[in-house]
Amino acid sequence: MQVKQLRLENFRNYGALTIEPGAELNVFVGRNAQGKSNLLESLYVLATSKSTRAAKDTELIRFDQPFARVTAEVLRERNSDIQIALTLSQTEKKAARINGVRHTRLAEVIGQVNAVLFDSGDLEIIRGEPSVRRRFLDLEIAQTSPRYVHALGAFRKALEQRNRLLRDLRDGRAGRDARSSLPAWNVQLAQHGALLVERRRRFLERLAQLAAGVHRTLSDERDTLEIAYVPSFALDEAAEAPAIRERFLDALASVEGEETARGTTLRGPQRDDVAFCVNGQDCRLYGSQGQQRTVALSLKLAERQLIEEIVGEPPLLLLDDVLSDLDDARRRHLFDLTARAGSQTFLSCTNLRAFSKGVLERATIYAVTAGEVSRQ
Ligand code: ATP
Ligand code: MG
Repeated sequence: MQVKQLRLENFRNYGALTIEPGAELNVFVGRNAQGKSNLLESLYVLATSKSTRAAKDTELIRFDQPFARVTAEVLRERNSDIQIALTLSQTEKKAARINGVRHTRLAEVIGQVNAVLFDSGDLEIIRGEPSVRRRFLDLEIAQTSPRYVHALGAFRKALEQRNRLLRDLRDGRAGRDARSSLPAWNVQLAQHGALLVERRRRFLERLAQLAAGVHRTLSDERDTLEIAYVPSFALDEAAEAPAIRERFLDALASVEGEETARGTTLRGPQRDDVAFCVNGQDCRLYGSQGQQRTVALSLKLAERQLIEEIVGEPPLLLLDDVLSDLDDARRRHLFDLTARAGSQTFLSCTNLRAFSKGVLERATIYAVTAGEVSRQ
């Protein structure tokens, strides 16, 4: 897919901006705090309806403004071209327009445009808490599966209510027949949770294969990467949703006493994790800074390929400030990989020194200064 035109209104430090990016590599160069990351973020928000940086949507709205809007004209190979606009408001629910038609159900909007973002926060996928890895999986799978978005919403609701019940049981606040409603919650949780686990494992299995290939290339054929899903209850490798549901129910039954004592749900996808091993060692614990960075980048480039496989065309590739972390060989491999992939790429950096003449010649270059963008 290709963004023909991008328009920002009151998004972060942009007042009004319209650009028509090039079909291949677009480079946004500027000093710190000028709006480079904000611009890449706007495209990611348009694709996923969420930012990875902002805790609240209202942070995306320009200071003292009532709303922010991101609008893009996108050429798609597999589907008809689309105009998509996302509006974030201080007072109303966020809403999107697709070719002028208003949608408030964001599940219908997510995935109309696909994007893969790599930014410095992605290092946390490797070395952060398990919740960061689960969030990564949820966001990525949601992009290509409305069913996953639905199951995730239903699972969270069931989990919240089950946890409330467990807390009430722990604190002696629950009514006499409260405990007898627990099995019904278990069934709800296991039904939606099994689908989440099945999809996450399937996604990760394919992602792991692709990431291993990218990682070999980026590390000059030196390092091997293995990725594994780590469920919170015992599971056969090949288990599908119905079998996972049964194991999940067994696991919940086996910890019921502990759960009511602690007042929280102790098994399920909300406790699962992902392990990254480089040359046989857990990269989270033993990886060097450079190895962790390379794993994170491999993951994102693999994800780009995976989305292409699923959707049938490459997603937008958003590379925020990635060059400063890489040595010359890795940079060269990165440019080779992205050029061959045929993705429209948006890359931010603070200067152009890292680029070879060949790469600069085929790139569209923009200077970013205080929320203004000018073509070079
Ligand atoms: P760096 O090279 O340091 O990464 P950058 O060009 O990527 O810089 P951005 O992260 O895009 O910088 O942010 C640019 C500016 O946007 C910051 O100075 C920040 O104060 C401003 N900013 C962030 N959110 C808002 C907002 N809601 N309204 C107005 N300005 C904002
Ligand atoms: Mg930045």
